[in-house]
Amino acid sequence: MTTAPRRATLEMLGISGARLASLVQVGGLREWREIHSPLDGTTLIGSVPVGTADDMVAATQRARAAQPAWAKTPLRQRCAIASRFRDLVIDNADALLDLVHWENGKSRVNAYEELLDTALTAGYYSVAAPCHLATKVRAGAIPVLTSTRETYRPKGVVGIISPWNYPLTVAVSDAIPALIAGNACVLKPDSTTPFTALAAVELLYQAGLPRDVFQVVTGPGEALGTPLINNVDYLMFTGSTATGRKVAAQASERLIGCSMELGGKNPLLVLADANMEYTVEGAVQACFSTTGQLCVSIERIYVAEQRYAEFCDKFAQRVKAIKLGAGFGWDDADLGPLISTSHLAKVAAHVDDALAKAATLLAGGHARPDLGPTFFEPTVLTGVTEDMALAREETFGPVVSIYSVASDAEAIARANDTEYGLNASVWSSSVCHARKVAAELTAGTININEGYAAAWASHDSPMGGTGISGLGRRHGSDGIVKYCEPRSVAVQRGLLIAPPKWTSRENYARVMNLAARVMHRIPGIVSV
Ligand code: NAD
Repeated sequence: MTTAPRRATLEMLGISGARLASLVQVGGLREWREIHSPLDGTTLIGSVPVGTADDMVAATQRARAAQPAWAKTPLRQRCAIASRFRDLVIDNADALLDLVHWENGKSRVNAYEELLDTALTAGYYSVAAPCHLATKVRAGAIPVLTSTRETYRPKGVVGIISPWNYPLTVAVSDAIPALIAGNACVLKPDSTTPFTALAAVELLYQAGLPRDVFQVVTGPGEALGTPLINNVDYLMFTGSTATGRKVAAQASERLIGCSMELGGKNPLLVLADANMEYTVEGAVQACFSTTGQLCVSIERIYVAEQRYAEFCDKFAQRVKAIKLGAGFGWDDADLGPLISTSHLAKVAAHVDDALAKAATLLAGGHARPDLGPTFFEPTVLTGVTEDMALAREETFGPVVSIYSVASDAEAIARANDTEYGLNASVWSSSVCHARKVAAELTAGTININEGYAAAWASHDSPMGGTGISGLGRRHGSDGIVKYCEPRSVAVQRGLLIAPPKWTSRENYARVMNLAARVMHRIPGIVSV
């Protein structure tokens, strides 16, 4: 890796020294943090200021000052900015992919997944937002006499805390609906991947977004989280369940809304009638994309017992053929390294613990220091038992366990036997059969004959977790309306909703009791 193209890429994406210096919101001495690429652990991408609590407060104040004018900007103009942003993401794809690759380490093909998701999310909301935010006519209290409308006002300032694993799409894709809805945003990206987030926000500015409407503060979550939460009107958090619990508690203390997109221990079910070649290929993608560092990634596979041996054999063979590497080309590598040495240690500890307790290794199982400091082989285990850490804990790495199940009922029960509930995947040659199984699963997204991408990329439909996988939803109507205060405006004509003077209160109560029994059966009285 050479320095010149790196600098050129950052400059092409609008990240100059002056831009980085502008991240410092208040005066005074500031530490700068060097960002090194996980590809080799040494290549310096650049340095960013370590923001302070004062920087965060100042950023939220700038955003708050800019928000009212932004909310008055016509909705079609806000949508047009999102649409231009989509085009800029596609126009700058090569530079963005290089940056994601440097900063996160994921292979180019995996980086493209999130680039495409960013473009598609922006495109979706640029078209769908006017419908989601349109004033809705609702059934009034008294037919004919009450006309009621539901309207949406932006919350104000939305705080966004994002992780390192999808540094491009998670940093901006949740901000886009918030911005279109008329909010200002303040983003705190993960400390290890700030440049990708900054590049994405620069493209939003290039698309026409006023700078103060979207502020970025780089630095550690422990120092910046509290001042962010204390100064915003809504919090969008994506990260681990442990951190999610802490920030949700702070948001609830302030009685502000929050959306929590957290971890998972996602199951994949191979039913007896699954098409084996197709299922094996899909399961490899589902378990190992972004080296398993994906919230919706599969970590448990339940296979109908009559197909278990066949699946294990074919899956292990296919996993052994996965190419690890650090190359920038589309075909140089299927998978890149893990994000850090500390994460590598956690993943290796899960595997070592399982092997020490007599799990069986079908593929992988080892770190690959010959390729780089944080490479770990895609790993397949069987014989995993409850006493092993990875049986229930999220590994968040390229490690999957396979279990044999005697029936669909057992597969469903074991898939649901988790505190998490983010994603699940079902494979069968009969969609009808798969739908029946899917109906019994508790996860927030369920993919049939796909691992995770079909539901995630269905941007018109909600995505999020149940249980300790989170609160709230992104995508679809939920993904934009959550950034608004829905309000009911009701106009009453001719009659107050109180006993009239011309009859007794008792008569009034009799008439209203009758109305209460029949009113909601009249067509058009309830808007659905
Ligand atoms: P993390 O919780 O350690 O960090 C996430 C973000 O929170 C980072 O920006 C970090 O700086 C910040 N943070 C840390 N401590 C904080 C605090 N006390 N207050 C406020 N902010 C704080 O998570 P991670 O390790 O970066 O990400 C991996 C986790 O994220 C996995 O569990 C994964 O499943 C989850 N994830 C979930 C989704 C989803 O959509 N459900 C998507 C991506 C990742």
